Amino acid sequence: MTSTLRDESVDAGEQAPAGPRVGVLALQGDFREHAHVLAGLGASVSLVRRPEELAEIDGLVIPGGESSVIDKLARLFGVAEPLREAIAAGLPVYGTCAGLIMLADSVLDAIEGQQSFGGLDVVVRRNAFGSQNQSFETELDIPALGAAPVRAAFIRGPVVESVGPDATALARLDDGRVVAVEQGNLLGTSFHPEITGEHRFHEYFLGKVRARIRSLV
Ligand code: GLN
Repeated sequence: MTSTLRDESVDAGEQAPAGPRVGVLALQGDFREHAHVLAGLGASVSLVRRPEELAEIDGLVIPGGESSVIDKLARLFGVAEPLREAIAAGLPVYGTCAGLIMLADSVLDAIEGQQSFGGLDVVVRRNAFGSQNQSFETELDIPALGAAPVRAAFIRGPVVESVGPDATALARLDDGRVVAVEQGNLLGTSFHPEITGEHRFHEYFLGKVRARIRSLV
């Protein structure tokens, strides 16, 4: 099993890139799409499946996919508990869709026994928009990311049903439902910027990663 994307033409050149080291949790889901976006933004990207790989990164992206499967595999690979500790210690983490579910402190409509990593003081509801064929795209105004609207793809995504005092809503649908949140070094979106050519969330996240690196030196 490979732990780096360097042989998979994600990095632009032969030399090791100087950008922040960002891992993508690669147990299941659309981790490759995230890896390509991050590498395109200058990050040094690695795939993370094992606990020891967490020590080699400055930030982590948890992709979309199926949260109950990511949960099971994370426990099987022994990465769930170390990741919880890393999140508590301040590791910047960005979760999209299933990744947001994994970051939520509380998950509604989970399957029996399903666990999240937690960290975000929010309650999310899985599959809040119905089935796969009720997937949709829309444009969101997200002032934190600039004036241009964000193109957002929802694929059996969760909704943030409540935002606790430690977290902040970043984006809402027209009906007021929250679909993006942040809390310190954690960022979560119900939708998938990695598949619509929208890179501002990843840039925003890399800003958190760089700030964290500066704070540690
Ligand atoms: N419905 C999925 C889950 O519960 C999330 C879908 C997605 O990540 N696109 O994990």
